Amino acid sequence: SYNSIIITIGDELLIGQTIDTNSAFIAQQLNKSGIQVKRRIAIGDDRNAISDALNESIPNADIVFLTGGLGPTADDITKPLLSEYFGGKLTVNETVLAHVKQIFSRRNRPFLERNLRQAEVPENCQVLFNRLGTAPGMWFEQDNCIIISLPGVPFEMQTIVEEEVMPRLSERFKGYYIYHKTLMTVGIGESFIAEKILDIENALPADIHLAYLPTPGFVKLRLTSEGSDKAKMEHEVEIRAQLIQQRLGDYIAATEDISLEEIVANALKEHRLTLSLAESCTGGYVANKITNLAGSSAYFKGSIVSYANEVKEDLLSVKHETLMTAGAVSEATVKQMAEKGREVLKSDIALSISGILGPGGATDEKPVGLVWMAICNKNITVTKEFHFFYDRLRNKELASNAALDMIRM
Ligand code: ATP
Ligand code: MG
Repeated sequence: SYNSIIITIGDELLIGQTIDTNSAFIAQQLNKSGIQVKRRIAIGDDRNAISDALNESIPNADIVFLTGGLGPTADDITKPLLSEYFGGKLTVNETVLAHVKQIFSRRNRPFLERNLRQAEVPENCQVLFNRLGTAPGMWFEQDNCIIISLPGVPFEMQTIVEEEVMPRLSERFKGYYIYHKTLMTVGIGESFIAEKILDIENALPADIHLAYLPTPGFVKLRLTSEGSDKAKMEHEVEIRAQLIQQRLGDYIAATEDISLEEIVANALKEHRLTLSLAESCTGGYVANKITNLAGSSAYFKGSIVSYANEVKEDLLSVKHETLMTAGAVSEATVKQMAEKGREVLKSDIALSISGILGPGGATDEKPVGLVWMAICNKNITVTKEFHFFYDRLRNKELASNAALDMIRM
């Protein structure tokens, strides 16, 4: 197999001001090409830290990635350091210079002396063109190791990886594959799953690994295998996936790694149904999730965000009396919200949601985390009561996932 190490550079990463998404992205890309990620390292903007990390990594990997610290400011030290490290000097690259000047004139900004530095590259590297920014990527080779340095800005880094790096790497590192198969389960905890599939798990061949990945609302099961016989490896994994799928039956929501929103989208498209929402406590969050997917207008009509009681009365005709007696968070209220919402927004089905996310607003009978939902079509309305036990935002997340799960069914 082929091994890689990813080094991310930046003081902001070490103090947690910026979350390192670059190494996650690179790792995903490498995985698709059958290249193992052995280690991910975060270090500060510090010369010694960078050369130490390189000294440690180069003998232990076929590929070493670096991101960050390529800019024109004093804290960006990666480029001069790499130039020194690989024993060359910095020279202006004419292609890069023309590109940098073009970017400056497009942005109507004067080209300063210091910006010349952005067009400098170590003489012993191959330049990786940065279509979207000024700092070029760099490709070095030393001691049977490829060292790739990329800018820190995520969208620039991603584009260079996709357009420049991966095509070159796939060419070089052929013939080895990593295969993942993901099963998404909803409505069952990971220990229950483990009990149910114990015999299947115990009988897995040594080269197939099973991972449990719990996330709010669902548990993903990922089967992984790797090797050079692609067809055989995929076949072996698929057989095990089918066994698990049969065993878990209705708990399986999807047989690929997709979001709950996508599962809902697929279900609505398959049954040619349109959806509308009447949201109170989630404040439009369920609608936000649904509309994050391109093409959602094919099945999604809209959401009435009826947070205040007056809005529930005015836009969704919830009876004043219901709000006064049963209250806004009640079965009777969500039933009226869903039924009227469906009528107003002219959809096949509608879901409503009203709850107490906390920290305030609770009473003895209605604790924080109580959420009522209703879903209806033209014939029938089904209601459901949920109790979530966390803080406001986590309760909101769980409630929105539970709502998507109700729509899926
Ligand atoms: P530039 O030419 O824009 O200066 P650069 O290579 O110098 O590019 P940095 O200055 O290190 O990049 O970082 C640019 C931006 O990218 C910063 O906002 C930084 O927080 C962000 N960034 C850097 N590294 C990462 C990372 N590993 N994950 C996510 N964001 C990152
Ligand atoms: Mg930086």
